[in-house]
Amino acid sequence: MHNNTAISELIEAGKWVSQRGWVPATGGNFSARTASGYVVTASGFDKGQLGTHAFIEFDHEGNRTKGSGNPSAETELHLNMYKLIPSAKFVLHTHSVAATVLSRVFKGHAINLHGYEMQKSLSGIKSHLDTLTIPIFDNDQDIDRLSLLVSDHHLHTPIEHAVLIRGHGLYVVGRDIKEVLRHLEGLEFLFSCELERLKLEGIQAGVQS
Ligand SMILES: [Zn+2]
Repeated sequence: MHNNTAISELIEAGKWVSQRGWVPATGGNFSARTASGYVVTASGFDKGQLGTHAFIEFDHEGNRTKGSGNPSAETELHLNMYKLIPSAKFVLHTHSVAATVLSRVFKGHAINLHGYEMQKSLSGIKSHLDTLTIPIFDNDQDIDRLSLLVSDHHLHTPIEHAVLIRGHGLYVVGRDIKEVLRHLEGLEFLFSCELERLKLEGIQAGVQS
């Protein structure tokens, strides 16, 4: 995939994601792996109004080759996700209410989703009887340290679809733009269901079940 193709797809994705309220106040960042390296959104742009100027291009080693904006601190985590997951072509990082709240309510290091038909929106999940596990990492302003934690976790439990950062948001991966958007929408649906379930069943009962 050429850098310009990836940028066009991310501009369109940004409008769609922004309309759903998952990247408020210029939060979040998007990236793609391309033939020549990576493209990543620069810091501080409204994801609903991205233009070509809002992207920074990197080579395969992570050296900047084009783009004048400030790289987001979270760029490092995007590049790390590509290193860990060879099939990943897109990474979307979002700050939705459901992902932010759920990752705080669940005190452990993962959310296990089961019993939902919509789990099948995630590639490889065939049944509501399967368990879809999304790891949770404590938030850290030191992105290198956070990246290291994610890498260590991946060594013993490979990350397939996404990771949550506690009180912060979601990183979701896909092999193409359609898959990453489906994963994002599917997970947001499931997180919203879990939030509603916890409200009705009670937080303690819900989290322990
Ligand atoms: Zn963020």
